[in-house]
Parts: sequence; C-alpha cells; structure tokens
Amino acid sequence: MKIICIGRNYAEHAKEMKADLPTEPVFFMKPDTALLKEGDFYIPDFTKDLHHEIELVLKICKAGKHIEESFANKYYDQIGLGIDFTARDIQAKCKEKGLPWEKAKAFDNSAPIGSFVKKDTLDLGNINFELKVNGQSRQVGNSKDLIFSFDKVISYVSKFVSLKVGDLIYTGTPEGVAGVKIGDTLEGSINGKEFLKLNIK
Ligand code: MG
Repeated sequence: MKIICIGRNYAEHAKEMKADLPTEPVFFMKPDTALLKEGDFYIPDFTKDLHHEIELVLKICKAGKHIEESFANKYYDQIGLGIDFTARDIQAKCKEKGLPWEKAKAFDNSAPIGSFVKKDTLDLGNINFELKVNGQSRQVGNSKDLIFSFDKVISYVSKFVSLKVGDLIYTGTPEGVAGVKIGDTLEGSINGKEFLKLNIK
C-alpha cells in the first residue's frame, strides 16, 4: 500500500505556511514504512522542529486510474484520522533549495493512523475534527473548508498514480500546526469522538 498526502488543502494553513493558494491539488507520498498503527512515537534525532498535522484520511476500497470526479465516491468507503508528521526545519531547507520533501515527510512512523468509520455514517461535507495536545485544543478543522474535495483529490491523483485497495489518502491539515516535544500526548477526534491517541517519546 501507499500513502498519498495532499498539501495546502486548507486556505488558513496555506496562509500560515506563507504559501500561495494552490490552483490544483498538491500531493506527495509516504511509503508503507511511514505508517504507525499502534505504540508510541519517537521523535527522530535528525529534527529539532517536528510538527503535527492532523488530517482526515480516506481508505481506498477499489482499484482505479483516471477516475472521474463524479464516480470518485465509489473508490473510498472509510474515513479516519491520521497525523502527517513533518520535520519542519528539514522541509524548510528542502524548499529553499527546490529539493523534494521526502526527508522531512516520509521517514519511518511519520504517518500515525487511528481508527476508521464507514463514510456513510458521516456528513462528508461537514466533518469536524480536532487535535488536542496535552488536553489543549491545537487544530480544529472541518471538511467544508477543503480547497479540493475528497472526490476532486481522488480524481486528480488518479490521473498520475493508480490507486489500489488499502491505499490511504491524507487530505490535508487545517491551521494550527506546531511543534511537539517528548512527553506530549496527542488526541485526535472526529465530531467529538476519539479516533487517535499518541504519546510522544
Ligand atoms: Mg499534511
């Protein structure tokens, strides 16, 4: 399986990153070794500024390529919550030099994933989600604020990369990204229900 991540998909986050609003989806990938399904997260020693990015995640249930936007909703059946951990200091250096972001984004365990629900149980255009760090709210988002909808993202990505059953799409983060430190506890929720809990070591 592979992990596809959408960048700058919420206007307020693009603003806090001092990035222009994208005119088409921006995506990058993480390998399967980035997935962290259980256990604690250990901050890697190559970064001094590891940021959390809480994101709604789509689970692909049907293989496809060149998927039309109007059929895209048939290609995912579950929604969950994940964190796109980012070594912000490394990413800044990559951006400065015009280099790829993989060192900052695709490292082992950089994609913690929580539980999933069937997408039919949610109002897809109005999904609230939140990340708390040590009980304090850090990021609050809603799918209505996505620049590119779930269907648009699936359609766009599948023009370049075939989707397979089990692939995950991290759909972008709202504003409020910030550093984590050893001892922090991260809790993610969808519509007030806990989907993810992670201790930082
Ligand atoms: Mg992200």
